[in-house]
Amino acid sequence: MNSKFTTHTFKLNNGAAIPAIGLGTWQSGEYATREAVKHALQKGYRHIDTALNYGNEKEVGDGICASGVPRDQIWVTTKLDNHWHHRVPEGLESSLESLGLEYIDLFLIHFPCSTDPQDRSKHLPDWDFVKTWKEMQKLLGTGKVKTIGVSNFSISHLERLLDDPSCTVVPAVNQIELHPHNPSPKLLKYCQSKGIHCTAYSCLGGHTNSTINTRTELINDPVVLNLADSKERTPAQILIMWGLQRGTSMIPKSVTPERIDSNFEMGNWGLSEADITSLDGIQTRAKVVGDAWMPIRVFFEDGM
Ligand code: NDP
Repeated sequence: MNSKFTTHTFKLNNGAAIPAIGLGTWQSGEYATREAVKHALQKGYRHIDTALNYGNEKEVGDGICASGVPRDQIWVTTKLDNHWHHRVPEGLESSLESLGLEYIDLFLIHFPCSTDPQDRSKHLPDWDFVKTWKEMQKLLGTGKVKTIGVSNFSISHLERLLDDPSCTVVPAVNQIELHPHNPSPKLLKYCQSKGIHCTAYSCLGGHTNSTINTRTELINDPVVLNLADSKERTPAQILIMWGLQRGTSMIPKSVTPERIDSNFEMGNWGLSEADITSLDGIQTRAKVVGDAWMPIRVFFEDGM
């Protein structure tokens, strides 16, 4: 291992420290999730990312339990689903029960979109994410959530939230899609200016074997492949290092033990300014996660 990034953390605006590299679990499958989480924790990962929406909180909890790693050494992130926005305490209880945990390290609003539980294709008429955040803030006093944040929030969502008088806690984290095909520099800079840490999701460009077509060609981008070749690293390691050096925590998903290992074994190396310029210079633009399945639009160009 021997990498500063295996133990590196990023300091959040509430003083908490989020481990720089975590394991993503979206589309990991039931049995595979448990084994991947167990393997990752035994390897040294201390950060696991899940969501009610992934349908695998129970398997994540099983993997944590099977790993033998003490709970207080692990950072667990989960997310409030769209149809729970007006029932935040119940949403939290549901996640705690599925995970088999007494508290969550980071609880995120998954999307700035509040849907009707009876018909998830409809937006709730009298509710939006500002009201949801008001309820999220109340969780901090319960001892069941250590840190709260958001996900998939653009600059306009954050401006609206931060300008509202009911917002007394600045989100500690905005978890967003970030990789060289979707670098969102304006959104990242805006978040940094407000003290909001960004976690990069789909940081490898999404799933190579997804049944719901959530992939890009990022991992085969010639610039990434050339850098991997010249530095004798894997393409995934190039992408992970690019994000770490931008100051974002990274949550690559894998259910393959060798990949879980190599995504964490970052070694003592770094990308030079010229390497970063070449990655930043990639012109291809592609997103893994879209908003066509939601009743309102949530994604805007470069996070505006
Ligand atoms: P990633 O960008 O992490 O890519 C995952 C894919 O890359 C899988 O097919 C995996 O295959 C493959 N892979 C992993 N490691 C390597 C490697 N070293 N070499 C080659 N291929 C590799 O995809 P995700 O979209 O899942 O994003 C990561 C995580 O971010 C999610 O799992 C989830 O936790 C979070 N997320 C959050 C969202 C949000 O709305 N907040 C939205 C999307 C993701 P295999 O598993 O077969 O090894």
